[in-house]
Amino acid sequence: MDTPKILSPAMLKTYKQCKKKYFLRYVRNIMMPQSTTPFERGKNIHAIAGYYLSGIDISRFEPSLNESEQALWNKLKSNEYFKLTPVKTEFTLNVQLDGYWFGGRLDAVVKNSNEYFILDYKTGSAPEDAKYDYQTMVYLSALSKYLQTTEGISFVYIDLKNNQNILIKSDKNLLQEYETQLTTTAKQISALNESSLKCCNNNKCEYSKICF
Ligand code: SF4
Repeated sequence: MDTPKILSPAMLKTYKQCKKKYFLRYVRNIMMPQSTTPFERGKNIHAIAGYYLSGIDISRFEPSLNESEQALWNKLKSNEYFKLTPVKTEFTLNVQLDGYWFGGRLDAVVKNSNEYFILDYKTGSAPEDAKYDYQTMVYLSALSKYLQTTEGISFVYIDLKNNQNILIKSDKNLLQEYETQLTTTAKQISALNESSLKCCNNNKCEYSKICF
């Protein structure tokens, strides 16, 4: 099976969760309907945060947030990392590792006098294993290559639900570990064989109705 041109963290996570789901979603391109409420809330917070960090006057947008969005937005505005100097917001960053491309869209990059921070705002919870989440691995690897340094870059999950920050600092060894994990997964994806993919009959899975 061909490896897609660029593997995103969502694609890698789906592959890890279930190879068959990866095949249905990203090879057959079948999208199943999902509840849009948490998604819409996240979208509104991300949009206003992007405008704010870009220096756009958001006073006309703020009243359009509902009560729960306003509470999340107030938490984000007072977050110590969100208050640092913005470098770039809502942008795409890709990286090539061992012939495979990885990448996606970052919420924001900010900096202080000696360090860059990739920010990811979570209106739900941050991932359990944040250090080895595909989002962390892809974006730290990409920014490290882009800035041509292995030090002085961190990934920060701003967990607005639990009001906490989870910080992962890059270093040479960790980035090497990420490269190995990412390229190993990409190789597995390119070797994926449709005939070996069986359905697990999990009726809680959104793909169960079309998975055989
Ligand atoms: S039903 Fe099972 S095998 Fe099929 S896509 Fe869902 S989790 Fe994967």
